[in-house]
Amino acid sequence: MTYDILIRGMCYIDGYIIPQSIIINNERIVDIKNITYSVNADRVIDFSQNPSIIVFAGFIDIHAHLRDLKLSYKEDFYTGTRAAAKGGITIVGDMPNTRPETTSLNLLDEKDEIASSKALIDYGLYVGLPQESMKFIKELPSMSLKTIGVKIYMYKDFYGKNIDVFRKILEKIAEYGLPTVVHAENPRFFRNGLRPVESEVSAIKDIFNLKKNIDFKLHITHLSSKKGLNLIRKLRRRKIFTIDTCPHYLIPLAEKNIVPKTLLKVYPPLRSKDDCKALLNALRYDVIDVISSDHAPHTSNEKMREWRDAPPGIPGIETMVPILFTLYNRGVLSLYNIASLLSENPAKILSIPKAGLIRKGFYANLTIVNLKREKIIDPSKFESKAKYSPFVGMKVRGIPIMTIVRGKIIMEDEAIVGERGFGRNIKSYYNHQLS
Ligand SMILES: [Zn+2]
Repeated sequence: MTYDILIRGMCYIDGYIIPQSIIINNERIVDIKNITYSVNADRVIDFSQNPSIIVFAGFIDIHAHLRDLKLSYKEDFYTGTRAAAKGGITIVGDMPNTRPETTSLNLLDEKDEIASSKALIDYGLYVGLPQESMKFIKELPSMSLKTIGVKIYMYKDFYGKNIDVFRKILEKIAEYGLPTVVHAENPRFFRNGLRPVESEVSAIKDIFNLKKNIDFKLHITHLSSKKGLNLIRKLRRRKIFTIDTCPHYLIPLAEKNIVPKTLLKVYPPLRSKDDCKALLNALRYDVIDVISSDHAPHTSNEKMREWRDAPPGIPGIETMVPILFTLYNRGVLSLYNIASLLSENPAKILSIPKAGLIRKGFYANLTIVNLKREKIIDPSKFESKAKYSPFVGMKVRGIPIMTIVRGKIIMEDEAIVGERGFGRNIKSYYNHQLS
């Protein structure tokens, strides 16, 4: 028998770096054997001579904005997933605040069709809350077959809205077991365009209070502050909800001399060095479950506007993995930290079957990283339509060199080799489970 791919090299498996042979056939990891094991394969990828090259379970970005539809001038599923593959991402979760917003079954179907025709890697789609809550509640059972979760923007979906209706929505979401990904900011604290730490702290308290009575799967996304983190530490003795943060809340950028300054505009806003330090420290001790990119591309012209008018968002899907491995090379994070943050925990939080680990029978989603390769972040080379970054000029060490999705090589040696339309909605994983 001839298999699809045989990969030989150092692999991150269950906390250990061990030399192994991974045998891939028909989208799956069919066997994991010792390094000298040999089979016939259409493609043999041999990294066994380079111990700096490590094979990880495919990295997953649970929070990105791939735009498309009427915002495809900013990004679309083709360019967005090319950027993701370049950045070592095998599965990406797309947020619903597109134009139109993904808040109904029809709009979800429409987006899924576009995504499946353009994506190079696998994707999940979130839905958002519409004005008409009753329609949402009615459609949720059907939507749950295609969506990976519900995104809640507290500043618009919760504050000032009818609390009983909101509760009903949460109960329905809980009934279908979907994760609820929450952007936690309370607009009561917004002043003159500023969004202080207190707005985050207050919103975390408010959503947590709902969690006491409704057993929904709460995930707080892009945590930005030390005060928010300290509150979470207090609330979460038993890990009853999960959290993520993003690279731009870890690397102190706020005081950097970036032109234009609006490249740093993002919600929640960038905080102080002290906040970055606290979040970094929390990553090391498993207090933070996931790192997401919150990739939020705009055109350069839009970002050139005055601070007040420039749209918030940082394109980060290509820089996230190199930045995390740079932190590894600086001795701040371990490979265990990174594998938990980018593979294992995202798969758990989104309940993606047969993903997040290197295991026999799992989907052959793999990210291969050269821990010693270096480069300078150069946004003009981004696959994303947004060719700018607050990380411009940063020297990074530890670069993804291969992205494999369901046994198909999508990126090799930093070049995109995957095909438009190969990517699949990860909800299909649920229907194709092996025993
Ligand atoms: Zn976002």
